[in-house]
Amino acid sequence: PVDRSPEIQEARLKLPVLAEEQVIMEAVRENPCVVICGETGSGKTTQVPQFLYEAGYASGSEIIGITEPRRVAAVSMSHRVAKEMNLSTRVVSYQIRYEGNVTSDTKIKFMTDGVLLKEIQKDFLLQRYSVIIIDEAHERSVYTDILIGLLSRIVPLRNKKGMPMKLLVMSATLRVEDFTDNTKLFRTPPPVIKVDARQFPVTIHFNKRTPMEDYTGEVFHKICKIHRMLPPGGILVFLTGQAEVHNLCRKLRKAFPYRKGNTGEEEDEETSETMRKFKKAKQKKTVSLPRIDLDNYSALPVDEGDEDREAGIGDEEDEGSDLDIGDDPASTEEKADPSIPLYVLPLYSLLAPEQQAKVFRPSPPGTRACVVATNVAETSLTIPGIKYVVDCGRVKKRFYDRVTGVSSFRVTWTSQASANQRAGRAGRTEPGHCYRLYSSAVFGDFSLFSEAEITRRPVEDLVLQMKDLNIDKVVNFPFPTSPSAEALVAAEQLLVSLGALKEPPRTGRVKEMEQARLSCPITPLGRAMASFPVAPRYAKMLALGRQQDCLPYVIAVVAAMTVREIFEDLDRPARSEDESSKLTQRRARLTQMRRLWAGQGASLLLGDLMVMLGAVGACEFAGCTPKFCEENGLRYKAMVEIRRLRGQLTNAVNAVCPEVGVFVNPKMTPPTGHQVVCLRQIVLAGLGDHLARRVQAEDILDPKWKNGYKTPLLDDPVYIHPTSALFKTLPDFIVYQEIMETTKMYMRGVSAIEAEWIP
Ligand code: ADP
Ligand code: MG
Repeated sequence: PVDRSPEIQEARLKLPVLAEEQVIMEAVRENPCVVICGETGSGKTTQVPQFLYEAGYASGSEIIGITEPRRVAAVSMSHRVAKEMNLSTRVVSYQIRYEGNVTSDTKIKFMTDGVLLKEIQKDFLLQRYSVIIIDEAHERSVYTDILIGLLSRIVPLRNKKGMPMKLLVMSATLRVEDFTDNTKLFRTPPPVIKVDARQFPVTIHFNKRTPMEDYTGEVFHKICKIHRMLPPGGILVFLTGQAEVHNLCRKLRKAFPYRKGNTGEEEDEETSETMRKFKKAKQKKTVSLPRIDLDNYSALPVDEGDEDREAGIGDEEDEGSDLDIGDDPASTEEKADPSIPLYVLPLYSLLAPEQQAKVFRPSPPGTRACVVATNVAETSLTIPGIKYVVDCGRVKKRFYDRVTGVSSFRVTWTSQASANQRAGRAGRTEPGHCYRLYSSAVFGDFSLFSEAEITRRPVEDLVLQMKDLNIDKVVNFPFPTSPSAEALVAAEQLLVSLGALKEPPRTGRVKEMEQARLSCPITPLGRAMASFPVAPRYAKMLALGRQQDCLPYVIAVVAAMTVREIFEDLDRPARSEDESSKLTQRRARLTQMRRLWAGQGASLLLGDLMVMLGAVGACEFAGCTPKFCEENGLRYKAMVEIRRLRGQLTNAVNAVCPEVGVFVNPKMTPPTGHQVVCLRQIVLAGLGDHLARRVQAEDILDPKWKNGYKTPLLDDPVYIHPTSALFKTLPDFIVYQEIMETTKMYMRGVSAIEAEWIP
């Protein structure tokens, strides 16, 4: 029996999913696989594991497993469920790549989907689990898709062996046909249970015009109008990236300053004062509310029907009211107005966890909460108290060029499904409003749904993991959505060149050769590589790292390359002049440190990877403190992850070859000149397909090739970035971690190599 506190019990009863408890549990009893659909916030993630627990699915030695595509969700949901059930985190626990609090007493385990995939490699039948819940299936993350494919085979196998197991797939959208109408996946379609969302109506307001250039400016004006004129209620804003989020937060804080005193007393005084003013301001404005026309919006209900009756703001009435704020940006030019404080919070995935947690807490009395978020807030976190959503309609995504592997971040229109998800965030506790800063015609041109991630990115890591599971013919795997044949061929080719897969025979008929190219079996090296939780290119480096005692360095470099973005983004806009001068100072400091970490002479040739190594070494030497990171331009969260990943990779390497006995040395000395030469060769072995040659001055016909590099697959030059350790050196041959297209095509993570090493 679960002993919940009365408050928790009361809050639970309000969740729509609770009304479906019996239906869900009956379906689970009678079917091996069940799909549950329910709006974000209906209680799926927090409640369904509790239903299963109370129905006895964790009463024996088996436990309940739940996967999340995002780490934030795995951690915060496990804490929430532990709290609701009044159980210790020893019993309701989580495991993500770098950490966890799972114990032998764990009964409910939240984890990222990648963690479960690794467990399948160790025990294909997942015998520890009585039930697996795949959460957020609508996100269509690559690992989620693969897990569903694998579990569609594991569940019947377990039943056949007399150790029954259940699979629950949970989605925030009704679009589940890829799972249910796919006979390759489930021969008998699993039942779909729809949780009636007790969603309040959300009135949608489309812009009449669609700003193409300065949409963030438009977002700002919209928030100002809402905050000044509309009744209390939190605002949630969807933007595309971290820089935009910071920029907008800064502008909003300036326009509606909220100041928290340093002492509790001061704070209280200030809050009550602002509260008073706020109330006053509010009263004045709400009186004339019905007359407000939030300029040029046309209103449309989310669900055709009853919402029209909602006393609409923005309905086309009374254009000439005295509070008509018009469409002219100049008329809304914002002056700082401290009488109506806005409690502005950023939210994006790289944000420090304690900052992220703030969005769950009530905003200070007398203020209005305004959460400025990226896509994180779309479905995985339910932010309480939101009444207004402002949607820029765009999303930032990483795009890969299938052929060249060049990646770039691009801002594109989001899908209709995701725009509707965003709008839904406004109707959780009372009727809400969603302001779409684009016209309904533009909305009509959005794709209906976002594409599954698996169709959009390279798949060599998955192919290797699947080969390690002895799935040789990856083409035949029951993917909910299959990656393209092209992507699969490219993956197998790369893995063959890394030595992870056996080279296909070159004889036979064309058709047979085609077949063979798509079903290369794994090699022993491939198995070792698959046991390292990093991309195959880096796994190859680890596999070679033993020589000349290079392993600790290879581990550190691979950890840094895997975590990415280890340096703080100091190019972000400053919030004040004071901050601006601090940023300038810190940029100078970082440049200086980069130069120091790059070393001199021989080590300089290891280039950016030497900088990473130096940064990791120095940070660890200093005890990996926030202070050290802050002072030296390193991102603390990244450095902590690198530290954990180093520990994990060290264990993984020792597990593969115990005789190496490698350990994490916090006082790692820099590599010798000799070792640097070895490291450069090891790096080449992993990044052999990321080779670039400098175009010699005498060969240059077109000036764009000046200081440019030629790669095998690209017609255009690629460049070394000005922040790179090798920017001035310009070696003849280099390998790079990746090419990012920003203002130019820049290589990141560059190391120099010698021509004679190239195979
Ligand atoms: P779903 O998975 O269907 O989107 P959840 O189970 O995540 O729904 O959320 C159910 C409710 O629990 C929501 O109202 C949400 O705000 C609340 N909730 C979730 N996490 C927390 C938390 N850490 N603190 C307070 N409330 C929370
Ligand atoms: Mg959820």
